Amino acid sequence: MRSTVLSRAVSEIFRSHRGPITIPQLREFLHAKGLSAHKTTLYRIVRRLCEAGMVEELMLDTSVAYYEMQRVHHHHAVCSVCEHIFCLSDLVIERGLRRVGSLLSRHGFFFIDHQFSLHGLCKACQK
Ligand SMILES: [Zn+2]
Ligand SMILES: [Zn+2]
Repeated sequence: MRSTVLSRAVSEIFRSHRGPITIPQLREFLHAKGLSAHKTTLYRIVRRLCEAGMVEELMLDTSVAYYEMQRVHHHHAVCSVCEHIFCLSDLVIERGLRRVGSLLSRHGFFFIDHQFSLHGLCKACQK
């Protein structure tokens, strides 16, 4: 019963939030709604949402795991200092990758998937 209320609240947070969320952030959002949950419970709920294909775990090589609602495919830029994540919706990247794919196929390489993120310093961390 209790876990149903929690999973519903978690789904709702993912649906209404733009951009990636960490488990600790999720806990804070739930707290603001008057709900409390153990980290392990939350992790299990998020895992289930990932398995259902609603949420995606981002492969960003950050100290904490980021999760984001599956919407349109896009990449991320990560600040190397504060680990702030920026969502990139630039289609130029996808178009470029398609060209890379056809280039690879000329070498007999069958390109299936890609996974990358951009790393740098955010405005605040440059000071
Ligand atoms: Zn930063
Ligand atoms: Zn994103």
